Amino acid sequence: MSEERCEVAVVGLGAMGAATLYQLAKAGVKAVGIDRFAPPHDQGSSHGDTRITRLAVGEGAAYVPLVRRSHQIWRELEAQSGEALFEQCGVLVMSSSATTTSHHGAADFTANTIELGRTYGIAHEVLTSSQIRERFPQFGPIRDGAVGYFEPEGGFVRPERCIATQLEAAQALGATLITGATVSALESLGGGVRVKAGERTLVADKVIVCAGMWSANLLGEPFSALLKVCRQTLYWFKLAEPTIFPEVSPSFILAHGPGEADICYGFPPIPGEGSMKIATEQYVALNSIDALDRTVSAAEVDEMYRKQVAGNIAGVTSELVKARVCTYTVTPDFGFIIDDHPTLDNVTVVSACSGHGFKHSAAIGEAVAQRCVSGASQIDLSAFSLSRFA
Ligand SMILES: Cc1cc2nc3c(=O)[nH]c(=O)nc-3n(C[C@H](O)[C@H](O)[C@H](O)COP(=O)(O)OP(=O)(O)OC[C@H]3O[C@@H](n4cnc5c(N)ncnc54)[C@H](O)[C@@H]3O)c2cc1C
Repeated sequence: MSEERCEVAVVGLGAMGAATLYQLAKAGVKAVGIDRFAPPHDQGSSHGDTRITRLAVGEGAAYVPLVRRSHQIWRELEAQSGEALFEQCGVLVMSSSATTTSHHGAADFTANTIELGRTYGIAHEVLTSSQIRERFPQFGPIRDGAVGYFEPEGGFVRPERCIATQLEAAQALGATLITGATVSALESLGGGVRVKAGERTLVADKVIVCAGMWSANLLGEPFSALLKVCRQTLYWFKLAEPTIFPEVSPSFILAHGPGEADICYGFPPIPGEGSMKIATEQYVALNSIDALDRTVSAAEVDEMYRKQVAGNIAGVTSELVKARVCTYTVTPDFGFIIDDHPTLDNVTVVSACSGHGFKHSAAIGEAVAQRCVSGASQIDLSAFSLSRFA
């Protein structure tokens, strides 16, 4: 069978791949995007209706320019497509007691978020426990000594719509999509890369791998040693009636105890749905991604409600409306990897996951496309290099 040629092949069209393909097409590059499924889909890390976005990214300063630029790109895409992608309902990061909670590698996540808000001149309010109680009665009980950070420019994005919109825009700009084809091998050929995608073989000048939880399988070492995949569960609980949620309620992250597990996050009730999406995080690595259990048991629902919802979020019942399973792909320091593959020439790896990647994805796509076209990106990506794990 003949080999198809392109300038750039993007492997994986989830959050990072769809953004990268769109930006490459926008830059006039002859690009092909390949996915094992038909994105947007519910098999990877980018489904479940909503993703929090916030400018004061408590995970670290290197992320701030990415999320800022992403907010601009979501708005540009909305203007082009007419789709609602970014809901700027504000975001509230809070503790419910004086105890600090670590999250995504930051020892005191709320304090870190406040510090970043100050350092980067991000509009925000620091709230005392009584101010949180007064303005946001849907959370709590909030104990004395608790602290809150409210950022009006934050909110949530709609992941499936963002992916679909960028893929449609990429195609309109001339990109080719190959779906239902699994890339099984990448072979460097001096000047290019041979890509085996299902029954097809492509030769690309460059390849960008955005394969989410499947990255380690495709890329081998050092990725198989660095990346762990963790099962996550998302829950939509029915609202109590009459609802105490105001018409505009923020996305939130609520740290309610000292342990890594004492944290939950959620979204405002979506009008007409009568439920609220709430989740927490687990960092137990799967032995194999084939072993991922995509069902959510009654025991898990019960535990989620008891440990995370009851006593922390008022106005939500224990009645489950729906639940979904998703995955985090996590590096040892919870940070992203955006770098060249150390042994496969002309292959770039974008493993921007670790549970907090979506908000940055539009700008990551742009920066990776710039790096691919001109060798450098406007936003500095050096914090995401592989060498930090050497
Ligand atoms: C439960 C949960 C909650 C989250 N909450 C937030 C949040 O509130 N805010 C936030 O910013 N981020 C959040 N994140 C993180 C964010 O969603 C992820 O960082 C992001 O979606 C990861 O995108 P990705 O492109 O790396 O992976 P994916 O979207 O999974 O994409 C990978 C793609 O590669 C394809 N693929 C893989 N292997 C191959 C192959 N060999 N051949 C062809 N195709 C292949 C897959 O089919 C898939 O489409 C959350 C993640 C989860 C799971």
